[in-house]
Amino acid sequence: MKFKPANKIQDLQYFGEFGGVNPSISDSSTYTFLSAKTMFDTFEGNADGCYLYSRHTSPSNLYLGEALAEMEGTETATVTASGMGAITPVLLQLCSAGDHVVSSRTIYGGTYAFLKNFTPKLNIQTTFVDITKLDIVEAAITENTKVLYCETVSNPLLEVADIEGLAALAKKYNLKLVVDNTFSPLSVSPAQLGADVVIHSLTKFINGSSDTVGGVICGTQEFIDNLRNVNDGACMLLGSTMDSLRASSVLKNLRTLHIRIQQHSKNAMYLAKKFEADGLKTVYPGLASHPSHELFSSMLNEEYGFGGMLTIDVGSLDKANELMELMQHKNLGYLAVSLGFYKTLFSAPGTSTSSEIPEDEQAEMGLTDGLIRFSIGLDNDIERTYQMMTECMREVGILELVS
Ligand code: PLP
Repeated sequence: MKFKPANKIQDLQYFGEFGGVNPSISDSSTYTFLSAKTMFDTFEGNADGCYLYSRHTSPSNLYLGEALAEMEGTETATVTASGMGAITPVLLQLCSAGDHVVSSRTIYGGTYAFLKNFTPKLNIQTTFVDITKLDIVEAAITENTKVLYCETVSNPLLEVADIEGLAALAKKYNLKLVVDNTFSPLSVSPAQLGADVVIHSLTKFINGSSDTVGGVICGTQEFIDNLRNVNDGACMLLGSTMDSLRASSVLKNLRTLHIRIQQHSKNAMYLAKKFEADGLKTVYPGLASHPSHELFSSMLNEEYGFGGMLTIDVGSLDKANELMELMQHKNLGYLAVSLGFYKTLFSAPGTSTSSEIPEDEQAEMGLTDGLIRFSIGLDNDIERTYQMMTECMREVGILELVS
């Protein structure tokens, strides 16, 4: 039977105290015990259903974690204070000094910086590769490699990882495949395709309100228990726990994710087709011209579409900046980093979210100065948006340049 992630979220039923239709919020950092023995057992992780201290976990965090585990089809999940607060403990849990990571070279700038600049201090080395070429990925694996790391749809170039192919490699060499699925929630379910650990920045589409940062790690019960182990768990000891009040608000937003993703995808597909027809250099996984269109289609939970992210290349940073400032002025969206908001967000990744990547490496991976990354919003009238964007492009001389 087909995997239906939104059904699985909706099939959960939690009530709050006094019959509330939302689960009660656990507004406490610490919990009382009737017996000291139960407190000890809870600390050791041997008292199911008891809570000790909210850095370990809290009922509100468990509700959100369980809903996200259902969405990804993993045994369980743990929620974190940010996306980076999910990515960094996973890598530190899986790798020790002397270990090696093979990572996609096109990933979020913060993750890139962590692997490139931070983990070498702990003698964890990373080889960055073109993740779309399985032979290159395989050639980079050494006897010290522990992790294959990628984003399903990469930030910002929108390259698509072959999750099944990578999972087969991970199995062959006894590695863990860790996938950041932030750009494609619901659309792709990496754990169903063989990923061992699935991460999201909840900051983006899943929360969808641009009012908080947050993250989640979805995986086996054993792995999540290890992350939360009081003696050597990276989540427990690094302390990137989500606040309970936030967990409850993200859970409420998660319930409309399926409707929002469909609208983001519909609007992005409409604009991508129009931009491409206008002669703009457009990248969107839903376009037949995307090098991994077939692959993405084969991984897709169809009803959610190809997602809300697209890029255009307008030739130079000056043109990109001029266009973005004008579009903001006309209220077509915001010149802002991040993604997944109701309003369209645009930024030039080379000088913002990917600025941690040195210029020569940006050039090598095809990240050009004139690239604009769009997170397409929930616009009710996308035709009108397109007309207005086209006027802006004419005004700054971009459409004349390409036609
Ligand atoms: N992963 C991806 C793909 C991202 O785009 C981002 C942030 O932009 C992150 C992870 C980091 O998430 P956060 O900002 O919530 O720490």
